[in-house]
Amino acid sequence: MKILIVEDEPSLREIMSRALTQEHYVVETASTFAEADAKIAGYDYDCILLDIMLPDGNGLRLLEHVKQLRKRENVIIISARNSIEDKVEGLDIGADDYLPKPFHMAELLARIKSVMRRGRDGYGRDITMGNVALDPESRRVSVAGRDLPLLKKEFDILSYFMTRPNHIVDKAALAEAVWGDHADEADNYQFVYAQIKNLRRKLEEAGSDIEIKAVYGFGYKLAAADKNDPDK
Ligand code: CA
Repeated sequence: MKILIVEDEPSLREIMSRALTQEHYVVETASTFAEADAKIAGYDYDCILLDIMLPDGNGLRLLEHVKQLRKRENVIIISARNSIEDKVEGLDIGADDYLPKPFHMAELLARIKSVMRRGRDGYGRDITMGNVALDPESRRVSVAGRDLPLLKKEFDILSYFMTRPNHIVDKAALAEAVWGDHADEADNYQFVYAQIKNLRRKLEEAGSDIEIKAVYGFGYKLAAADKNDPDK
């Protein structure tokens, strides 16, 4: 799950970023309208936390851009201007929630979970494919009913694939979703290959009937394991 924090106040941005990273979200930040606008246009997020008063513009206009681009991001407005007009306008444009400052981190986390659950990704429900089940909220994976311990990035990769079964996943898109900021600009993807290799091995050893297959020249896809493969 990837979150963009749009907030110009450095200390609040830092506190939010730390709290969300601790909760295993992939976090990116923007401190100005221009920076946020460029990120929203160029990347996909699961959720955007949006401050309204930015030094170079009004956050509500960013929300309009999200809607104009027909993006699927959940947007939670975070604003010190606890005015009813802002709230009404924000929800009118299509924000999913509104949280007035100051707020407790626990409340922010609860709101994020709540909008994600309502969202179109089926967040919060178990995702199953073959004999593999993944619970996005508790971050647990099981194979044929038995727990499969995964490292953080391995879980994130599997989760990315399981929400896109049978889709060919491009290395750059995967790197961007799982590693965040600028990973897609890396000149090689050794870090992606290494994690996928470990994840594949773990799935195979656990007797998974799905596997991550390499699609030569394109990337990878998650599909039913080939049980007749003589190498197995
Ligand atoms: Ca502000």
